[in-house]
Amino acid sequence: MSDCLFCKIAAGEVPSTKVYETEDVLAFKDIDPQAPFHVIVIPKKHIASAAEITPENSGVIAKIFEAISVIAAENHLDGGFRVVNNCGEDGGQTVGHIHFHLLARRNLAWPPG
Ligand code: AMP
Ligand code: ZN
Repeated sequence: MSDCLFCKIAAGEVPSTKVYETEDVLAFKDIDPQAPFHVIVIPKKHIASAAEITPENSGVIAKIFEAISVIAAENHLDGGFRVVNNCGEDGGQTVGHIHFHLLARRNLAWPPG
């Protein structure tokens, strides 16, 4: 996806502040943080949204959650954290490459509104 912002970040064509990286997964700081700790976790390979997850591509979703567990441990998110996926227009998705927000270091309201 040549016009996809997060594909460009994964390819290093757009700069980001990397927090964690594996062969398949990249985590970087959100440019507009909504909590003291706010990281975006993506598969390097393009998937448009959670609505596009299939048996063929879902393996990377497990790898994303494995990465989240490591990031939380490495950053001592001992008070807990929240993982958010916005999907589609009503879900508030603004970048069309599936991503998971990892938010921490403040008391997060529930329900989120
Ligand atoms: P969403 O609204 O769920 O699609 O989330 C997109 C997120 O990407 C927002 O929290 C933005 O602040 C973040 N974002 C947009 N552009 C960049 C960028 N160049 N680097 C890091 N985060 C970004
Ligand atoms: Zn993409």
